[in-house]
Amino acid sequence: MGSVKDYFSSLGTGIVSLLQGMQVTGKEFITPKVTERYPENRDTLEIPKRFRAVLTLKYDAEGRHKCICCGMCQRSCPNGTITVEGKMVDMPDGKKKKKLDKYIYDLGSCTFCQLCVTSCPTNALEFSNDFEQAVFTRELLVKKLNYLPEQPDPVPAPKPAPAADAAQPTTNAKEN
Ligand code: SF4
Ligand code: SF4
Repeated sequence: MGSVKDYFSSLGTGIVSLLQGMQVTGKEFITPKVTERYPENRDTLEIPKRFRAVLTLKYDAEGRHKCICCGMCQRSCPNGTITVEGKMVDMPDGKKKKKLDKYIYDLGSCTFCQLCVTSCPTNALEFSNDFEQAVFTRELLVKKLNYLPEQPDPVPAPKPAPAADAAQPTTNAKEN
């Protein structure tokens, strides 16, 4: 008889304990969050501009970048994160010029040291603060940074015409 009493006593204690636990959980369920409300606040989230999330090639308004395919960034990178591939193209004046073919960057091995950015002689690189870079496979972390179609070189400004009158004062001076 005593064991039946103990059984129901334990059952009652268990139910009370369960309800107490559910009360705590339920209270937290309706209490406003005090932590960062991500991703609900994605639209208003402010990430510091200097935060280094991912390396990018800078493009101007016409879709041109300033990379001259010199390879300095690749040589400066301490862990082989960057691979710069060039190609030789024929220019309108008949000369050949080396241009960027592929700029490959492996975000998965980057340590965000920024040596590549500081070593670039043409200021062609920068770090974006776009922090949402999570993917499901490491292969997707390998990015081609020159993703826009290549734009034709800007037409060089015409050379100024020789100043025909420039020699006139000299001539006049001789005549005098
Ligand atoms: S930030 Fe550092 S590790 Fe990353 S690509 Fe540039 S040089 Fe390499
Ligand atoms: S990004 Fe800069 S350092 Fe790297 S290859 Fe291009 S010009 Fe050279």
